[in-house]
Amino acid sequence: MRGRGLKRGAALLTAFTAATAVTTGCGQGSDDKGAGTATPPRTTATTTPPPTTTTTPAVQRFESRVTKVTAADLKHSWREGCPVPPSGLRMIQMTYWGMDKRPHPDGRLIVNAQAADDLVKVFRRLYDMRYPIRRMEPVDVYKGSDFDSIEANNTSAFNCRNSTGGTRWSQHAYGLAVDINPCENPYVSSSGEVAHKDCVKFRNRQRRDPGVIHDGDRVVKAFASIGWEWGGHWSGIKDYQHFSSTGR
Ligand SMILES: [Zn+2]
Repeated sequence: MRGRGLKRGAALLTAFTAATAVTTGCGQGSDDKGAGTATPPRTTATTTPPPTTTTTPAVQRFESRVTKVTAADLKHSWREGCPVPPSGLRMIQMTYWGMDKRPHPDGRLIVNAQAADDLVKVFRRLYDMRYPIRRMEPVDVYKGSDFDSIEANNTSAFNCRNSTGGTRWSQHAYGLAVDINPCENPYVSSSGEVAHKDCVKFRNRQRRDPGVIHDGDRVVKAFASIGWEWGGHWSGIKDYQHFSSTGR
C-alpha cells in the first residue's frame, strides 16, 4: 500500500510539474497568432486530474481599494464648516459578504483617511468570517439622510451630522464611526424606542438572525482589534450598529 501510494504521488507530481510548465509557457507567450497552432500542450496536462486540493470551488477573495474623495463626491454629506475636509476622507471600495451568501464586489464606505487602513483590516476579517452585510453605500445615495440610510439597512460611516438627538458633532462627522446592519442592530433610546418599524423586533438581543451583533462576538472583537468600541456597551441609550474610535 505504502509503495503504491508513493508511486501515485510521484505520478501526480510529474503531471503537476508538466501542467505548471505548460502554464508558464502560456504565460510567457507573446505571440497571440501562434497560440493554438504551436505544439498543443494538452496531451500531458489534461489526461491526469489535478491534485485534489484544488477541487473546492474558488470563492472570490476580499479585495479593497482606498481612493481620495472631493467635495463633489459628498454633495449631501459634507458642507463648509464640517470638522474634516474632503481631503481628510477616503473611500474604501471593497468586497463584502451579502445576506444572500454571496460576495458583493461593490461595497463603498467613506471614512477618515487615518482610519482607512485599519478599517480595511476589520472588513477583511468580517468577510473572511462570512459575516453578512445587507448593503454598503455612501449616505450621499440617500441625500445624506441618516434615517433613509437606516431604513434601507445600509452600512455606512462618514456623514457630517450631529450625534443622534444631540447638538455636538457625531463621530460619523469625522469618519471615525461605522454603523453596521442598522436594522438588525438598532439604535435603542433610553426609553426603549426604535425609530424604524421593521427593526423593532431586533430590540430583542437574544435573536440569532444573520447580522445580529452580540457582546463579545467576532464582529465586536474585529473592531476591538483596532481599538474601536461598540455602542452596545453604552449604558442607557444602546447603539448596537455603532462602532467608533473614541467609543462615543
Ligand atoms: Zn453610528
